[in-house]
Amino acid sequence: MAKVYNWHLKRKVEYPYEEARPKRQVAWVFDINKCIECQTCTVACKTTWTSGKGQEYMLWNNVETKPYGGYPLGWDINILKMHKEKGNDRTLFEVSPDGEVVLGYLPEDEDYMYPNFGEDVCYGIVEKGAFFNGIHQVWMFYLARICNHCTYPACLAACPRKAIYKRKEDGIVLVDQERCRGYRECVKACPYKKVFFNAFTRVSEKCIACYPLIERGEQPRCVQTCIGKIRLQGFLSHPNNPRPDNPLDYLVYIKKVALPLYPQFGLEPNVYYIPPIHVPKQFLYQMFGGKEMVDRAIKTYLNAKNDRKLLGAMLLFGSTNKIIHRFRVDKNYAYGYDDKGNLISKVPFKEPVYIRPLYDKKRDVYRHSIP
Ligand code: SF4
Ligand code: SF4
Repeated sequence: MAKVYNWHLKRKVEYPYEEARPKRQVAWVFDINKCIECQTCTVACKTTWTSGKGQEYMLWNNVETKPYGGYPLGWDINILKMHKEKGNDRTLFEVSPDGEVVLGYLPEDEDYMYPNFGEDVCYGIVEKGAFFNGIHQVWMFYLARICNHCTYPACLAACPRKAIYKRKEDGIVLVDQERCRGYRECVKACPYKKVFFNAFTRVSEKCIACYPLIERGEQPRCVQTCIGKIRLQGFLSHPNNPRPDNPLDYLVYIKKVALPLYPQFGLEPNVYYIPPIHVPKQFLYQMFGGKEMVDRAIKTYLNAKNDRKLLGAMLLFGSTNKIIHRFRVDKNYAYGYDDKGNLISKVPFKEPVYIRPLYDKKRDVYRHSIP
């Protein structure tokens, strides 16, 4: 195996192919604190891409309730257990069984039957007579998931047909439907279980990052339709060369407020999460790269009210369908620009409020709120 640099783990890791970072890497930031699990993203994706034969069970985008939910069933628990048995200080590539490139498993058909398993189920029990004393004793949160378009995709590494490729121009990971023979090595390899086998066409399919939209400068469907405005899609620069005016670089590399999901697997995933602030830290440490990263991200997030630039970057979430390449803030607004420098978004720090006079002279009517 080759030795490639993984910036999440800050070390060289094993991977079957040489390091070949794209010119710019497609990436997302999801603010978990804002997700209401309305599943609008799930439905937007499903109706756009997976309403065909053999795709019935496919959810390229899904939102699961943690700690109990997961689609396919137990995807994270299963791979975490296997990883732990091998000593989880090494990546899934580094602990691969003999003759295989990565540690993985193939879910059972039944694991795909319960996409809403655990939905809205809290950890802990609300005792009779309990009251809210400032800290929630029971907790849950919503984890929105899509393919991570990993820098070191396990799906790509495991494909014996070389049918999976990562685009040089933007790092989107795609399955070549002509080359694929449906061996399902990718399904087995992806620890996030974001490749699906189509039993009708007998080939694998996965999230395509809505590349027809991205190619015309628009964010994907799941981002455009997000009710909670929790999502921002853009491009990450090379990890050694972050640009402070690129909102993705700023949130991920500079402020480090958004973290990768299970970076210990070693794939360098490119969906970054602002961790939920109300959840026991131990749970988050396992999920988002350890104590140092999680504590820092939460502290930074909680301080956003005193950090104008950070707050400005976060105000731009869900403010435009277009891809924001550059941003800036001034005293009153956050501004987003496209790749040609055109202004595409302008969000005030304070929502303007206009209070109508009670009496409208022109129409001779009184307008007031009736309780
Ligand atoms: S649309 Fe947005 S708020 Fe609704 S479930 Fe999806 S990510 Fe969460
Ligand atoms: S999340 Fe899974 S399917 Fe997506 S690029 Fe990574 S390994 Fe491949």
